[in-house]
Amino acid sequence: MRLVARLLAAWAMVSASTPVEAYLKLGASIDGRVVDVTWRAPVRYFVSDADADGGVSASDLRGAVSRASATWQAVSSATVRLEFLGMTAAVPGMVDGRTTLGFQDRPELDRVLAATSFLIDTTDGAIVEADVFFNSRFKWSVAAAGTPGRVDLESVALHELGHLLGLSHSALGETELTGSGGRRVIASGAVMFPIAMAPGTIADRVLQADDRAGISDLYPATGQLTSTGGITGRVTKNGQGLLGAHVVALNPETGAMVANFALNAKGEFAIVRLEPGPYILRVEPLDDAEVESFFSTAIDVDFRVAYASRMVVAPRGGASAPIEIKVVPK
Ligand SMILES: [Zn+2]
Repeated sequence: MRLVARLLAAWAMVSASTPVEAYLKLGASIDGRVVDVTWRAPVRYFVSDADADGGVSASDLRGAVSRASATWQAVSSATVRLEFLGMTAAVPGMVDGRTTLGFQDRPELDRVLAATSFLIDTTDGAIVEADVFFNSRFKWSVAAAGTPGRVDLESVALHELGHLLGLSHSALGETELTGSGGRRVIASGAVMFPIAMAPGTIADRVLQADDRAGISDLYPATGQLTSTGGITGRVTKNGQGLLGAHVVALNPETGAMVANFALNAKGEFAIVRLEPGPYILRVEPLDDAEVESFFSTAIDVDFRVAYASRMVVAPRGGASAPIEIKVVPK
């Protein structure tokens, strides 16, 4: 029993998202349970030997992917293993048993920089194969300091490798409308923020707290369970659980911000792999973002931002007693 799940990363120049925050894992629903979609063995990948238009070669892509792989593997609280096997004439997007990353000319996807597709074993959520295409229609850059007007390939590779490893989008970022009707990123709190890749910048070659928490949740390093803490609770509106509420935990001492969503009808949430300590909790709707970039089901966005009535401590090696955060309709 296997299926191919497709995740189209639609962060083009003109797509949208808003001031909210969080990492989200890809999840597969198996017999009514949601299980993590993860690799159960080291990721062994190939790079397609096709060059992009505009002077960026397959070998440049190999270098960018290699640097992005090293960045994920350097997260000390996680165990991520990626291994380059070689160049290939195979193209991404084919179910051929090979995890392949490569340039592809996709004129019909003129707002999509890159996207990751998966072959998942639906009996246990194991990723069997994943492919990433980088749209050769875009102007790419592999210059060390970036290139004005061109999108940094390493930054996009870092984001796509996050998907390939099992992460979905983070809502940690802020955008504003531009005169032309597009959106410009003002601030991004995560590489996994959907539209953080503005041309010319190389800021997203670096992972942030939310990205590190997400990957550590999927692939915890030995000892992580005993050295970190979690916060659990539920979000309610009019006494009912609220699905899709975005819950942000802010450590006032370090400024680290990690978030998650209430992912079931009871409004329950869990934010794990946190540095032990006190946190301020804020709940906010995923409003005027492209909700479908985060959720495939309808979620409730009709409520006002709210804060937990007290600070909540993430205890070392455990989780907080569940806290209820009540919100009111807009
Ligand atoms: Zn994405």
